[in-house]
Amino acid sequence: NKQVILNNYVEGFPKESDMSLVTDATIRLKCAAADSVLLKNLYLSCDPVMRILMRNPGHDTSSYFTPYAPGSPLSGFGVGRVLDSGHPHFKAGDLVWGTTKWEHYSLITQPQALHKIQHLDVPLSYYTGILGMPGMTAYAGFHEVCSPKQGEYVFISAASGAVGQLVGQFAKLLGCYVVGSAGSKEKVDLLKNKFKFDEAFNYKEEHDLTAALKRYFPEGIDIYFENVGGKFLDAVLLNMRVHGRIAVCGMISQYNLDKPEGVTNLMCLVYKRIHMQGFTVRDYYHLYPNYLDYILPYVREGKVTYLEDIAHGLENGPSALVGLFSGRNVGKQLVSISHQ
Ligand code: NDP
Repeated sequence: NKQVILNNYVEGFPKESDMSLVTDATIRLKCAAADSVLLKNLYLSCDPVMRILMRNPGHDTSSYFTPYAPGSPLSGFGVGRVLDSGHPHFKAGDLVWGTTKWEHYSLITQPQALHKIQHLDVPLSYYTGILGMPGMTAYAGFHEVCSPKQGEYVFISAASGAVGQLVGQFAKLLGCYVVGSAGSKEKVDLLKNKFKFDEAFNYKEEHDLTAALKRYFPEGIDIYFENVGGKFLDAVLLNMRVHGRIAVCGMISQYNLDKPEGVTNLMCLVYKRIHMQGFTVRDYYHLYPNYLDYILPYVREGKVTYLEDIAHGLENGPSALVGLFSGRNVGKQLVSISHQ
């Protein structure tokens, strides 16, 4: 069994050399203890939160995450096939998605948290993205947190990624005016032509984000879906409309900094009576069946599309993961590690 382990806590931008591919001989294949499940991992998901888990936790108790332990394999979302089960709810051959480890075979000791995959007429890899955690994040963050209404003006940062591409399409389905920002011309083209956003721009070409947003939203922004943080949040605050909503999904621009950047325009929350809410997808999994009912028809009819960026082989996982922080991924980044 090969694994990707974290060598040590990470400071600054993560590098491939922060992780190592090692051989682990402790898993005895074909044998799951009572209440556990032995999985063959097929796809692993690369998620920005994994950088937060690489940080030395020190005395910081503000997050609900359990950090990785140096010397141990990374964990994250994935799709796998059950090889053996000691849990009554699962049997050999079942396909599941949920939290697993970065290795070929994993012994899952709390399999009740795994989701059994029922719909196989869609690509299996989608359960790391549109039909998995990022999809639920986009759905809950937009529909539950933003209270969106038809005709509203919506801005999404990191808009071509795993979550952002979906938020934009959900907002279009509702009849909103949607603008996204991304870090390359290729991504801007995708936003406009593949995901049908009304407008998109390359933030790396804008020296004044506040002015850029004013150009795309002359009447202001009703909803901001926050994926980036820092100077994006500051510029958005100045461009929000009265009674606007900001769903804080993540702040990827801050994850590699020792000290987060300050935000200077927070008084806009008061002046414009803005509702700004952080959220975690963890609080919304009870809505997963509703989400599947919502999304599957759109996927089958081609009304929502999903772009994936697939790396091949466990050994290429570290490079795929660190690529998230330079914007190398085009769409949802995942790693295909085994055939079924
Ligand atoms: P993406 O697929 O969008 O990948 C990350 C992207 O972020 C990169 O491709 C890059 O795109 C952009 N990026 C990286 N660094 C910066 C930077 N310094 N400034 C601006 N953009 C940057 O990731 P996800 O869709 O998986 O995640 C999006 C956000 O949602 C993250 O903040 C993540 O932590 C958060 N999240 C939160 C969840 C929750 O429960 N609250 C659950 C899942 C995700 P580009 O080329 O456009 O710069």
